Amino acid sequence: MTINKLPLFINGEFVESSSEKTLEVLNPATQEILCNVPCASLEEMTAAIEGAVDAFETWKEIPPSERSRLMMRYQALLKENQEEIATILSKENGKTLEDSMGDVWRGIEVVEQAANITPLLMGETVENVAKGIDGYSYTQPLGVCAGITPFNFPAMIPLWMFPMAIACGNSFVLKPSEQDPMTANRLAGLFLEAGAPKGLLQVIHGTKDQVDCLLKHPDIKAISFVGSVPVGQYIYKTATDNLKRVQAFAGAKNHMVIMPDANKSKTLDGLVGSAVGAAGQRCMAISVAVFVGQSKEWIGELKNKMEVVTPGPWDDKRAGYGPIISEKAKEKILKLIKIGKSEATCLLDGSECKVNNYPKGNWIGPTLFSDVKTSSEIYKTEIFGPVLLCLCVDTLEDAIKLINDNPFGNGTSIFTDSGRYARKFRHEIQVGQVGINVPIPVPLPFFSFTGWKQSFYGDLHAYGKQAVRFYSETKTVTERWFDENESSEANLTIDLK
Ligand code: NAD
Repeated sequence: MTINKLPLFINGEFVESSSEKTLEVLNPATQEILCNVPCASLEEMTAAIEGAVDAFETWKEIPPSERSRLMMRYQALLKENQEEIATILSKENGKTLEDSMGDVWRGIEVVEQAANITPLLMGETVENVAKGIDGYSYTQPLGVCAGITPFNFPAMIPLWMFPMAIACGNSFVLKPSEQDPMTANRLAGLFLEAGAPKGLLQVIHGTKDQVDCLLKHPDIKAISFVGSVPVGQYIYKTATDNLKRVQAFAGAKNHMVIMPDANKSKTLDGLVGSAVGAAGQRCMAISVAVFVGQSKEWIGELKNKMEVVTPGPWDDKRAGYGPIISEKAKEKILKLIKIGKSEATCLLDGSECKVNNYPKGNWIGPTLFSDVKTSSEIYKTEIFGPVLLCLCVDTLEDAIKLINDNPFGNGTSIFTDSGRYARKFRHEIQVGQVGINVPIPVPLPFFSFTGWKQSFYGDLHAYGKQAVRFYSETKTVTERWFDENESSEANLTIDLK
């Protein structure tokens, strides 16, 4: 069987890459090769960036309401094709179909915001900032922006980026994860179908070399990145060294605090879903449960609820979650589970997990550790698998201190029946996204995705008002009109006279 080479999307066409360097895209449940993804050549990268520069020149003059209409058509097409996109996504990423539908949906919600961009683009006006002088500001686009995205949300995360950037008047070059790049091509095809001008969105494929080209190219004005901590730090440092605007969203270790007064079954169900859903491969997954006081007595019941969740292929409705993205990622998780067994008590071990008829899948079953210490390797490292760590503390103050001492700050949640505890927690916690009786508090697109500390490098976050500021420049005008007969003399000061 001949395996397709995934095309690049340059200047409104799907083109075969001339690059000899390709990587296999595998179905992680079977290891079947789905396609070969090319690593774009320098000529192809240059063509994509130059095409985006040309597209920008026209697009920046298109009125915001017309840009919004493109996003409305795109939103409708994404909705119409949601299941088809989700199926592509499931095959290459492994997520269950239901979870992939959610991945696409959370992206569609951002496109809806991009379709309503105009009020967010509005500037400010002050009349008479000095006698007869008015001041006002407005936003203008930056130019060509670029996005580098991870494997774990192949629809949602590209959709966090290019619709907002393009609605702000920019053009965009996307470099999706080489592990599941087919979804991005489908998103691009539908964007073209929605009427997007050629070159407005370019999709190039590859790995480090292609990313480096984007980070260093003088025509790229801003970089949006989502991925792991070491790569995020590298992206931030390299792109800012090249004087670009950067937002880099990185790894996480998210804690859930469980107060003894919480609703037990809602808490434990929320915890299980958040910890092992998508095989724990979510940047907002809860990976640490902090039991306060007597709530530690629930750990046995937590184990019972976790052990009945089983992984399986994307189209098996009984599967709680899918495989790990790659054999390499699975090996890394297994190594950490092994280390964990020498550092803590392993209550549930998913290392030997098998799924009937899928002997080659990258399966790991739900895994649970208790008696975990903050000095341990499993606590300090982002495991990114279906592995939950339990720690016990005496008071809410202890729990808050533990979380604030952790270098990551992506997401956290508290389960409690007390407004007083919840208020104290949300006020004092040094984490950017907080759930109160909500296990995965990913903000909707009218807010922004606001990770803190080592989970984010930059100043302005994804989607919402912050994305509009990230993808725009502000121009401020001070304006006066002279009366015909006004007397005149040179003003040698900085005062507005
Ligand atoms: P990754 O860092 O390995 O890859 C992300 C992107 O960077 C990919 O497109 C990849 O091709 C590129 N890349 C990889 N190595 C590179 C290098 N040396 N130089 C330049 N580019 C490079 O991340 P991943 O494994 O795809 O995704 C999982 C990680 O993403 C986890 O750490 C997770 O927490 C994080 N993540 C964070 C958020 C967030 O919002 N904070 C959201 C989703 C995922």
